[in-house]
Order: sequence, then structure tokens, then C-alpha cells
Amino acid sequence: MKKVVKFGGSSLANAQQFRKVAEIVQAEEDRRFVIPSAPGKRFPGDTKVTDMLYECYHMAEEGEEFGSMLQSIKARYDDIIKGLELELSLEEEFKKIEAGFKKTIGENYAASRGEYLNGIIMADYLGFAFVDAAEIIFFKEDGSFDSEKTEKVLAARLAKYDRAVIPGFYGSMPDGSIKTFSRGGSDITGSIVAQGVHADVYENWTDVSGFLITDPGIIENPEVIETITYRELRELSYMGATVLHEESIFPVRKEGIPINIRNTNKPEDAGTWIVESTCQKSKYVITGIAGKKGFCAINIEKDMMNSEIGFGRKVLNVFEDNGISFEHVPSGIDTLTVFVHQDEFIDKEQQVVTGIHRLARPDAIDIEADLALIAVVGRGMKSTRGTAGRIFAALAHANINVKMIDQGSSELNIIIGVTNSDFEEAIRAIYNIFVVARL
Ligand code: ASP
Repeated sequence: MKKVVKFGGSSLANAQQFRKVAEIVQAEEDRRFVIPSAPGKRFPGDTKVTDMLYECYHMAEEGEEFGSMLQSIKARYDDIIKGLELELSLEEEFKKIEAGFKKTIGENYAASRGEYLNGIIMADYLGFAFVDAAEIIFFKEDGSFDSEKTEKVLAARLAKYDRAVIPGFYGSMPDGSIKTFSRGGSDITGSIVAQGVHADVYENWTDVSGFLITDPGIIENPEVIETITYRELRELSYMGATVLHEESIFPVRKEGIPINIRNTNKPEDAGTWIVESTCQKSKYVITGIAGKKGFCAINIEKDMMNSEIGFGRKVLNVFEDNGISFEHVPSGIDTLTVFVHQDEFIDKEQQVVTGIHRLARPDAIDIEADLALIAVVGRGMKSTRGTAGRIFAALAHANINVKMIDQGSSELNIIIGVTNSDFEEAIRAIYNIFVVARL
């Protein structure tokens, strides 16, 4: 067996956390490739090293004195080195970083040093080889990830090592400069490495024991999801469940490698398994509930809309021309509604209204603001009758007015629109009916 193990920033925030990580890695021979993030927050209100690096680099760009800021970043690493009693000095590395900042080498390079330096410490502490991600992870000229080149180079290079540490979050551009993924991108690195070395499992270690059925800010101590499919997770993550970077699913998905979310502070917990498909039933009919506030519905009416060819295309064209992506487009016989993010739409609303009138000639347009969308997701819905009935009965009992219903053709999810003010209560009602009452 071969496992790729990625550790998040809070798992590597100080020497004590590093010790836990080493114990986890050493507990299983199979844990052969380690992907560290940069040191995260040590306590609430602390600053992540990545954020310190961005700030420090901006000071350098502005021509401000950044030496003392860089020293406080170095102090974070020196504390870890000292706490682990290592004979390691990052003096030379910091000289290079300082020189790079002076010639404003780039924000991406600056941010990537968080993972790079943590990787050096981790490799030293574990006695593993250190492989710089810049040498095995590549981007194309247009900034997109170059999977072909990466697959080739990464596989050949890592085949040489039995065990290695590869820093997360970055790779290199065709000209050799450093480029990072978006924030939280070490998850993507872990997934790419897992695919490249044909791992059996990609373990992603963080500070929670897996995905929760719903937001703990709304439900106290919601249960952990034991097993979830990639597709279910996609449905939940676009609605805001953020334990894992959403792009990190794609590389492992190509090879059907399962992801196991684990808690560094509670390694005894089994965590959540993210798999391609499973015959394991989820404990409840639903796997998870997620949602987001802040949507707007643009209701468009036109008599005989149903028989007018091209009406929908014309309407959606206006959104495209204004650079606005839509979330859902439920329709009736003479009505079409477009759901968009309010903050993306608000500045362009009048242009959109005028644009729709010009292109599609509707009878009326009405905008409804402050709506929330809730996704109830579950592979179990397909084979269970009455799920929708139960959801809407629960909402009716809670006196919640449902504004919109959309069931994806996959029967994997039901999307419900409510007002922002009903959002929390709606989630509670759905959770209670499926999880607490176990209906
Ligand atoms: N350190 C980076 C960030 O804070 C990447 C990561 O942690 O995955 O976004």
C-alpha cells in the first residue's frame, strides 16, 4: 500500500503539532509521501505564515522597510526548529528570500515560501527526501495546471524515492518562475501527487474529524459523514462546505483513489471517506445539507414563452455579456427565473434588465433580493420514496415559505430557495427530520 498524506496549516503551526504529525506518519509504513502546508494559526486571532508573507511582500513592493516583518516570519520557523531540537538553519534560505523580495520577484513566489520552508523542516525531522514542488508540478503559459507534463515528470522523479516530502500549494511556470494554486491549494498538490504515484489512499489531515452533515454554526455538534461520493461532495462544496479545496477532487478522481479526511488532533477518529461510488448506505437518507445566503432571483415573464424558440438563450446571453454566472434557472410555462449571486449582480442589475428587454422582449421583469439556496444532498434519495415530501412537510411545519425547488436530474440533490431570514431555521427543520428524528 502507498499513501499520500497532506497536513494542513493548523496541523503544522508549531513544534508540538509537528510532533503529532511525525507520530502519524511514522505509525504506518505506507505513509510515504508527505505534503505540508505552511504554518497556520497557533491560536484564534493568530496570523497564518502565508498571510504574513503576502503582507511582507506588499511592503517590499511599496518600497517600505520589510526586514523586521521578514524576521518575524523567520522567528515562526526558528521556533519550530528549536522546539524540535533540529540542527537546521534557514539563514541562507532567508537571505535568498530577502534578495527575491528586494527585486520584487513576484507575489506567488513570496507566498510559496511558506510551504517550501515548512517542507524543508518536515523532511529534516522525518528523515525523508525533500523534493521541491517547482521541479515536479507545472503550469502552462496561460496559468492553467499542466497535467500532462506534471504526470510525466512527477512520476519519474518520485519513483526514485521510497519516502519524500513535497511542499504543497505551488509549482512552476514554463519560464521557471513560481506560481501558486488558489488559497488552500496544498490540498490540490496532495491530490496531484496521489494520482502521480498511483497511491491507494490520499489522506488529508486537518483540524476536524471529517465533513459534518451540516454547518456547526447552525446545528450544535452535527454528526460526521462517514462516506460520501465525489459527486455528492461537489454538490455540497459549491454551497460552501470548505474542509477541502474543491479542485482537489479532480486528480484523484481520475484514478478512483479514495480521500480520507482525518483529524491531526484526534488520529483515532476514522474521519470521512470520499469515494467514487459505494454500496454502503449512508446512515440517513440524506448525506448532507449545505447552503448559502445572498442570492437574487430575476423573474422574467412573457406570454407564450414556452413556444418561443431561443428565448432562454437570449436571456442567458445578457448574463454572459455582463460577466455574471448563474446558479439555477427554474422555469414555468410563461416564466423563467435566473438565480445569481447578489454581490456579483447588484452593480450591473440595470444593465441586465435593459439588456433582457432589448434582446428577449419580455412582458415584465421583477427582481427579488436576499434569498438563500439550500442543497439537500444524498445518494440514498434515488432509492427512497418520499424524500421531497418529507423535506417540504418539515419546512411547512416550521412555517417556512419555499420560494423555489429544483431537483437535479441525477436525483442526488434537491435545491430549495428560501428568504435569507428563513435560512437557518430551514436547515434546522431539514436536519431534524432526517437526522434527529431519523425518518
Ligand atoms: N498556505 C496556503 C494558504 O494559506 C495554502 C494551503 O494552506 O493550502 O492558502
